[in-house]
Amino acid sequence: MRGWTAPDEGVLFVITGPSGVGKSTMIHALMAEVPGLEFSASATTRAPRAGEVDGVDYHFLDQDTFDRRVDAGAFLEHARVYDRSYGTLRAPVEQALRAGRSVILDIDLQGARQVRQSWPGAVHLMILPPRIAALEERLRARATDSEQVILRRMRQVEGQLAGVGEYDYLVVNDDLATATGVLRGVVLAELSRRSRRGSLVDAVLSELDPRKRAVAAPSGQG
Ligand code: ADP
Ligand code: 5GP
Repeated sequence: MRGWTAPDEGVLFVITGPSGVGKSTMIHALMAEVPGLEFSASATTRAPRAGEVDGVDYHFLDQDTFDRRVDAGAFLEHARVYDRSYGTLRAPVEQALRAGRSVILDIDLQGARQVRQSWPGAVHLMILPPRIAALEERLRARATDSEQVILRRMRQVEGQLAGVGEYDYLVVNDDLATATGVLRGVVLAELSRRSRRGSLVDAVLSELDPRKRAVAAPSGQG
């Protein structure tokens, strides 16, 4: 994106939605379009799907290793989802945010609630299906999960959607291009908030002549 400047500090974006709604697909598209965004690869005890790369999509761990990391406090949040353990590793997220890069988490409702407590500045988005039946159709079309896994995931759709009222932004993924455009719009708007753009305010004001600067600066900033 030509001419795009980054905010003063990175923003933590939390994305939640039922299985098959299109989170991974939309996040991939977003990352290709908006610079300075980093996807946080979670740790999980579930098996890799075809095409998933260890360390890129997830850190695939056995249950003992996962539990030891929980005990060591390595996770920003963690939860059991669809009978497997998932968690966000704290260190890479904090490091990216400190360096001014924004981070995207693809985590479930329980994890999002934990992040809301520990990281009040995070922006929470829920991705919704146009109809619940679309989820099962998409999971079958994705063809990465067994029948048993698909049915287990479908049984937990209502549990994930029940948190809909807790989110800052809702994005319905009916047409993928439209939904990705809305997601991109939310992310760019949040990154453009004046409260996150102190250095841009200073840069603009420093170009004004001193008398105009005194008039233009909000009270309290000289
Ligand atoms: P999630 O990460 O939420 O589980 P995925 O991104 O893996 O979901 O998407 C599930 C399947 O649905 C994939 O095969 C994806 O290509 C497909 N998909 C994503 N968005 C749409 C859409 N708007 N319409 C139809 N299929 C979609
Ligand atoms: P999947 O197995 O389809 O990749 O992910 C299953 C569910 O686990 C999705 O709802 C996804 O958002 C969630 N998930 C993935 N990583 C994490 C994580 O680190 N923490 C939590 N709480 N949920 C996660």
